[in-house]
Amino acid sequence: MNETSVNIVNQNFRKTIPLMVGNNIPVTPPYYTLWYSYVTNAIPALTQRMDEILTGQQRCDRYLCDSLLDEFMVGNAKTQLADIQNSIHQVVNSIGDSTEHAMNSADHLNESLSEDMAVMAQEARQGNHPTAHKMVRLAQNFMSKTEDYRAQLAQQNAEIQALKKRIAETERQVFTDGLTSIFNRKKFNEDLSVYMATSATTCVVLVDIDHFKPFNDQYGHLVGDKVIQTVAQALKKTCETSQKDAQAYRFGGEEFAVLLPNTNIEVATRFADNIRDRVSRLNLTNKKTGEKLRPITTSLGVAQCQPGETIESLLERADQRLYDAKRSGRNCVRPALAS
Ligand code: GH3
Ligand code: MG
Ligand code: MG
Repeated sequence: MNETSVNIVNQNFRKTIPLMVGNNIPVTPPYYTLWYSYVTNAIPALTQRMDEILTGQQRCDRYLCDSLLDEFMVGNAKTQLADIQNSIHQVVNSIGDSTEHAMNSADHLNESLSEDMAVMAQEARQGNHPTAHKMVRLAQNFMSKTEDYRAQLAQQNAEIQALKKRIAETERQVFTDGLTSIFNRKKFNEDLSVYMATSATTCVVLVDIDHFKPFNDQYGHLVGDKVIQTVAQALKKTCETSQKDAQAYRFGGEEFAVLLPNTNIEVATRFADNIRDRVSRLNLTNKKTGEKLRPITTSLGVAQCQPGETIESLLERADQRLYDAKRSGRNCVRPALAS
């Protein structure tokens, strides 16, 4: 590193740290990388998002940083991981196929050899041909070697199956939200792009817990986490019980989304109201103190994809309606009219 680059790093360091301290963010390597990338505009989309947060929403707290890390930094690593997994998949599948094939051939060979050998041994006993005796011994030896080979193949096959299982598990984790165990935003983005390309009518429901911050402030962040987990389960349950093909995702923080392929706006709005109703009837108790928590409510925005519409525009319309729901007093659903 020459003197100029050392100076630049120092300058950026001096910009990054005060910003982090000002936003109450611990100076750990992942958070530092995030804020350093912001300061240096290393990822323009990240810079844009953080500018919006910092100008619009006063502060970018630790939770927002976590979702930005997930979206912009870990997300990149995850994409690479997915590529690597794809290649592993192909290799493992082809090894698996040839192992199976080799095992079948070994079985087949042993079967036909053992039949012929039984006949030959019988004939050798009757005629006492020394060469035939020798050939029987050689063939028996060969057959026992093939047995060993088959056992080795079976062992390899078991290892390949275990590897396949582990790969499937890692893939599942890439799409799962750590706190709630429902699908994450990465999966949401993937599913939505597939639906928008294949389904004539797709609806999206955005769900935001009302006045969630006071849960953290009043009862502590662990109880806040519990509230998020419970709402996630309520969403999942509503999908399972009231709308075929509906899928719930954690969008980030205390926000969720539901995708409804092949569904019109009227049905999606009724579905959203089922979520609102189910959540408002949840009863949570603070385990530590035995005290009942105040009721949880949500505000929801619904939008149906229009022909030729982009994902950004669809989400923007659902988000606008979510904020209308907030402005209308919360604990309500607002559907978007076609644009
Ligand atoms: P509104 O009704 O307008 O939505 O108000 P709100 O308090 O729900 O919204 P606000 O955006 O002000 O606060 C959301 C808070 O959620 C800020 C952040 O500290 C907290 N948060 C985000 N993710 C998590 C998390 O994973 N666990 C916990 N406990 N808190 C989180
Ligand atoms: Mg929110
Ligand atoms: Mg909220």
